Amino acid sequence: MYWKPELETMERDTLEALQLEGLKKSVTSAAKSVFYGNQFTKINLDPSSVLSLEDIRKIPFTTKDDLREAWPYGFLAVSKDELVRMHSSSGTTGRATVIFHTARDLESWTDLLARSMYMAGMRKTDVFQNMMTYGLFTGGLGFHYGAEKIGSLTIPVGAGNSRRQIQIMKDFETTAIHIIPSYALHLSEIFEEMGVDPRRDTKLRMAFLGAEPHTEKTRQKVEEFYGLRAFNSFGLSEMNGPGVAFECQYQMGMHLWEDNFFMEIIDPDTLETVADGIEGELVLTTLKREGMPILRYRTKDLTRIIPEPCQCGRTHRRIERIKGRTDDMMILKGVNIFPIQIEKKLMEIAEVGNNFLIILERDGYNDHMIVRVEVLKDFFSGDLKQLEALRKRITAELQSDILITPRVELVEPNSLPKTEGKAVRVIDNRKD
Ligand code: ADP
Ligand code: ZN
Repeated sequence: MYWKPELETMERDTLEALQLEGLKKSVTSAAKSVFYGNQFTKINLDPSSVLSLEDIRKIPFTTKDDLREAWPYGFLAVSKDELVRMHSSSGTTGRATVIFHTARDLESWTDLLARSMYMAGMRKTDVFQNMMTYGLFTGGLGFHYGAEKIGSLTIPVGAGNSRRQIQIMKDFETTAIHIIPSYALHLSEIFEEMGVDPRRDTKLRMAFLGAEPHTEKTRQKVEEFYGLRAFNSFGLSEMNGPGVAFECQYQMGMHLWEDNFFMEIIDPDTLETVADGIEGELVLTTLKREGMPILRYRTKDLTRIIPEPCQCGRTHRRIERIKGRTDDMMILKGVNIFPIQIEKKLMEIAEVGNNFLIILERDGYNDHMIVRVEVLKDFFSGDLKQLEALRKRITAELQSDILITPRVELVEPNSLPKTEGKAVRVIDNRKD
C-alpha cells in the first residue's frame, strides 16, 4: 500500500521538523542564486533568521514573472556543471519558464512519481502506457522514470496518434495509462470509430489524469467508458512537474507530498494566509531541490486544504481538485466565471458530448459569451425540435450557475478543435 511507509505516514510533528530542516536548507542555498541573492540583500533578510516554519512569511512570494525575468539561469543555486537536465513549462499563459535539475533532484522527483503511482495502486506487474508529450514537457519523462522505478513495463508512446495508441493498448495489454483528461474524452470517439470497446478489448485498469483542471463528472465519464479507475495527478513544472499532489485509493482529494513541498493557501487579493479548509491560491516552496530552489511560488491554482485525515493513513495533507488558475477567471458583466463551472454543468447533461469551447465577444460595451457544445451523435442527427429544446435546457442550466445568459450553439461530435496537449477552453476575442 505504501511505497515509503516511514515517510508517508510520518507523525505530523516529525514531518514538520523535517520540513523546517528542508526550509532552512532551501533558503540558505537559494541565497546563492542571483535572484534570491539580490532579493535578500534588498530586503535585508539573513537566511539564518528563518528559525520556524512561520518564518517563511519573511520571504516575499515568487511569481512566474520573476522566473521569466531571471531567465534563463538567474535562479540557479549550484554551478551549471552540477546540472543534468532541463525542463520547461507548457507556456499556457505566456513565455515558458525553465527548470534545471541536478542528479539528486531527478532522483527525488522519480521517487515522488513512484510513490504517487504506487499509492494509486500501480505495481511491477502493470504495463504502463505514457500518453503525454515527451521532451521539455514534464509529464513525459517525469512519469516515465517513476514507472520504471516501480518496475512496470513502461511504453513511452508520447502524445497523439490516437489510432496507434489504441492499437498499442490492445497489442501489449496495457493496464495503466497517463493521459490528459480532455484527450481521454476525445480518444473515446476514436475507440468507437475503430469499433474497439476498451472494457471488452483491453486490459486497462487504471488511468492517471493530469495537466489540466477537470471535474469529478469528467473523471466518472472516463472511468465508465474505459472501465478503469482514474486518479487525479497534480503538478507544475516549477515544482518539478507531476508528483506534487496525487490521489490515493480513496480518490478524495490529492495528498500533497509535504516532505518535498511546503504549502500555503493564500487569499490572492490580500495575500494573507487563509485557514485550512478555505479556498485560495496554492503557494509552494521546494524543500529538497538543489539545482533550483524556489520559495513561496504563487502557482495561481485555486484549491483548499482538506483538513480531515485521510482513511489511507497518510499524514501528508490533501488538497481539493483544482478549480482553475486565477487567470482562467473570466469577468463578464461584472460576474466572475471559471471554465470549470461551465464544464461541470455541461457534463451533467446526458446528451452532451466530449468537448466544448467558450468564446467571448465584445459588441460596443457589451460582452457576450458563446458556448459551443458538442452533442452526442444520435442526438445531433435526430429531431430539430428536440435539439432546440436541448439548446434551451443547456442555456437555462448554465444561466442558473453563472448568472449571465450565454449563447449556446450545438455542434456535431468531434467538430471542435482539439489539441494533443492541454485543452484550450476559452477564446477571448475582447482584447484589441
Ligand atoms: P503551464 O503553467 O505553462 O501550463 P505546466 O505544464 O507546468 O505549464 O502546467 C502546470 C499547471 O497545469 C498547473 O499550475 C495547473 O494549473 C495545471 N494542472 C496540472 N495538473 C492539474 C490537475 N490535476 N488539475 C488541474 N490543473 C492541473
Ligand atoms: Zn489517502
